Amino acid sequence: MTGRVVLKAGREKPVRQKHPWVFSGAIQRIDGDVEDGGIADVVSTQGEFLARGYVNRRSQITARLLTWDEDEAIDSTFWRSRLERAIRSRSTLNATACRLVNAESDGLPGLVVDRYGAWLVVQALTLGVERVKQELVGWLVGLVDVQGVYERSDVDVREKEGLAQTAGVLVGAAPPDVIEIVERGLTLSPSDGERGEVVRFLVDVKRGHKTGFYLDQRENRRKVAAYCIGAEVLNLFSYTGGFAVHALSAGAHRAVNVDSSAEALMLARRNLALNGFEARDDDLVEGDVFSLLRKYRAEGRTFDVIILDPPKFVHTVGQIERAARAYKDLNRVAMQILRPGGFLVTFSCSGLVSPDLFQKIVFGASLDAGRNAQIVAKLSQPSDHPILLSFPEAEYLKGLVCRVGG
Ligand code: SAH
Repeated sequence: MTGRVVLKAGREKPVRQKHPWVFSGAIQRIDGDVEDGGIADVVSTQGEFLARGYVNRRSQITARLLTWDEDEAIDSTFWRSRLERAIRSRSTLNATACRLVNAESDGLPGLVVDRYGAWLVVQALTLGVERVKQELVGWLVGLVDVQGVYERSDVDVREKEGLAQTAGVLVGAAPPDVIEIVERGLTLSPSDGERGEVVRFLVDVKRGHKTGFYLDQRENRRKVAAYCIGAEVLNLFSYTGGFAVHALSAGAHRAVNVDSSAEALMLARRNLALNGFEARDDDLVEGDVFSLLRKYRAEGRTFDVIILDPPKFVHTVGQIERAARAYKDLNRVAMQILRPGGFLVTFSCSGLVSPDLFQKIVFGASLDAGRNAQIVAKLSQPSDHPILLSFPEAEYLKGLVCRVGG
């Protein structure tokens, strides 16, 4: 008998509405001999078929759903066609680096695939994906012309699935220490010539954050550059200089990068050089943004544009309040050192902080800073990080561009 996940009475609604997660609390029992990581049907208390997916009793998210069609088997054809569909939907992106598979939002829960030039970087976040990983990689190299596939499953969430962290070559050649990628820069008016059309980056997929680069900010880096022409820019939480390289390419006067990671800043220096900008030592500042902002304020240092792109502050609901205070603090001090008429570009990548709440936090910061601010643009995720409507949890990145008055 195939495994059957029997729901508690009255808990079918999210499943019927195509939400891909079934929490342990919604489950009455699991019938049949389905191993963790294996495929099972999800049925109502009355035994009606609702969906099919993989299970893991160790995880609070006990089932992740793959299909709502009773006739669709979870076999090689299934995996291949899902991968194919996700990859095809990126074909017009025209980028040498992008996300090819965005997990739940591409109908492939637990799987992330990013492309960096001739390499793919894979994250297998769940046991269900771990079990079919090699098969998936086989299909991937058939669908995309690459030299190798590298795994970066060295992430904490694997522990919730009872999996150890792992990283390394899955197939083909090992990636070089850095892979060069190209992003579209800001396209200026013809009178400005070709400046800013193409921006290059070096990505360390083996040792960098996430799969090597913050691909989710690709579009925003280009959009934000438009506010930086002629400006003195402070790029906080800079990582490898993404926003700074775009800003300078668009004609920023100067960009100061701050990050706590010396390695990231070393790569930022190389990225700047690769695009024809020589960084002065005080353009790359290793330090803690919270204290550095205060130092700048005490020194009376000001900027025309300040970019705030902190790491995820909220991992559980219980952390929201504390994180809200941290966001508010950062935004308040940043506004205080902005020149009147300058732009604050502020992001939150914490999914549990809604766009509404984030806007309220930034509002609170402006009140405390005693500065009037207008939102001139709202920013989100690029199209290769889609948000499945039935899975709103996929929305995590939001940004505001604020013009900050006196
Ligand atoms: N804007 C970047 C991505 C930023 S990711 C881009 O477009 O590529 C967040 C960065 O914040 C990481 O590089 C991390 O090293 C850095 N970081 C985390 N906490 C920090 C702190 N307290 N002070 C300075 N940098 C910090």
